[in-house]
Amino acid sequence: MISFNKPFLTGEETFYIEDAVSSGKISGNGKYTKECHSFFESKYGFKKALLTSSCTDALEMAAILCDLRLGDEVIMPAYTFVSTANAFVLRGAKIVFCDSMESHPCMDAEKIESLITEKTKVIVPVHYAGVACDMDKIMRLSKQYNLLVVEDAAQAIDSYYKGKPLGSIGHFGAFSFHETKNIISGEGGMLTINDERFLDRAEIIWEKGTNRSAFWRGEVDKYGWVDIGSSFLPSDITAAFLFAQLENLELIQKRRIEIWDNYWEGFKPLDAKVKLPRLPDYATNNAHMFYLVCNGIQERTALIEFLRKEGVYSVFHYLGLHKSTFYSDKYVVETLENCDQFEEGLVRMPFYYELSDNDQQHVINCVLNFYASVELSH
Ligand SMILES: *Cc1c(COP(=O)(O)O)cnc(C)c1O
Repeated sequence: MISFNKPFLTGEETFYIEDAVSSGKISGNGKYTKECHSFFESKYGFKKALLTSSCTDALEMAAILCDLRLGDEVIMPAYTFVSTANAFVLRGAKIVFCDSMESHPCMDAEKIESLITEKTKVIVPVHYAGVACDMDKIMRLSKQYNLLVVEDAAQAIDSYYKGKPLGSIGHFGAFSFHETKNIISGEGGMLTINDERFLDRAEIIWEKGTNRSAFWRGEVDKYGWVDIGSSFLPSDITAAFLFAQLENLELIQKRRIEIWDNYWEGFKPLDAKVKLPRLPDYATNNAHMFYLVCNGIQERTALIEFLRKEGVYSVFHYLGLHKSTFYSDKYVVETLENCDQFEEGLVRMPFYYELSDNDQQHVINCVLNFYASVELSH
């Protein structure tokens, strides 16, 4: 059986966890949390990095920092995970969904401007599969209409837009270290803050609405309740696990890119039959996933079933959030053609560090056989 995902352990995780445990300080913002923050800030140039318990938490922090009022509008793609939307709904915002590009699940930056109203406050580009949205266009709209930009970079660690690290371009970036992502800590995430105006408040919201971080640095002589907030910081045990992964980031990325390239080579013969993933020339590939886009839901269901019989587990992805029960009960649902195309046709291939060349070849052969048999039956 070839599963869809298998969390990769570098082998050093338990070593660092033991070190954290024996140090006697395992709550948040300890030694490993600080190590991880410095790693991210120095490697990717984020003004500030704050580990969180999940990307969902990082998005919720970002939404608080955006200071939304009831009825403010937030523009985001419909083809995304629920947390992207939920974080802003929790603050009373109305979500306005933007269609994907025809060629890629990322939101179509050309379609954003027509969705902007007096009430629009935030744009949330989601870098699907770690592939950058058109950030120049989005940042231009942000300046022109005075909007904040929160990058949902959950899948986008170590990926770039025109040489700039994703998560460093918008006012905020949110990353995930969930076990299905490239770099993991079981559950885990990170908020990046790239605009100085928000640095102090971010730290306060992170620490339950208190100025405890400033207190520990000796900047204030007592700490107390100064703002809203929650317990967004992970324990140092989680950070210790993550630290082991970060030490191996280059190794992990190198192997994942090899796997991605193998799929690309293997599936090239299908180019006329299905859509292979295309990257815009401004984006790099961090090999978060490899997907194919089938011609509709019937073909995709048949392919997934065919693969399952061969012991290969492939999976589809998001259901457009605009058609969700939660949203469609409250708002008029627009048709988003490109989102539909990915909702119905996109299928993700098994993808993990330890996927062997043999197993990967088996996956490729099975898919090629499926399309050969479809051809025969026509
Ligand atoms: C994984 C993911 C999330 C949620 O991440 P968690 O760490 O599980 O909260 C949010 N948005 C996108 C696009 C994701 O892929």
